[in-house]
Amino acid sequence: MTETLPPCPACASAFTYQVDALLICPECGHEWSAEAAAAGAETGEALVRDAVGNVLVDGDTVTVIKDLKVKGSSLVVKVGTKVRGIRLVDGDHDIDCKIPGIGQMGLKSQFVKKVSE
Ligand SMILES: [Zn+2]
Repeated sequence: MTETLPPCPACASAFTYQVDALLICPECGHEWSAEAAAAGAETGEALVRDAVGNVLVDGDTVTVIKDLKVKGSSLVVKVGTKVRGIRLVDGDHDIDCKIPGIGQMGLKSQFVKKVSE
């Protein structure tokens, strides 16, 4: 087991386990397809996940987990930068947000980690 299973999309429990192609949540009994979870977009309800697999939603607060150069400028979004009120969008950069001191920009969900306030 090198991969962490995604949390339950119904109740966000982290104790999901896998049986063949199904992921099962022991807490609420929700079952879903591991393949769909891995493929993401096909279900119509694609979930955006952060670097460690937390599901992100509009309005979440995240921190940046690595220094990110801002395209077309010399600015760098430093690791640990806290970003409030993210908005999920379609595209390569799937998070739209306003970074303190930098302004509106797009981030990739794999470079952020959700924080609970
Ligand atoms: Zn569940």
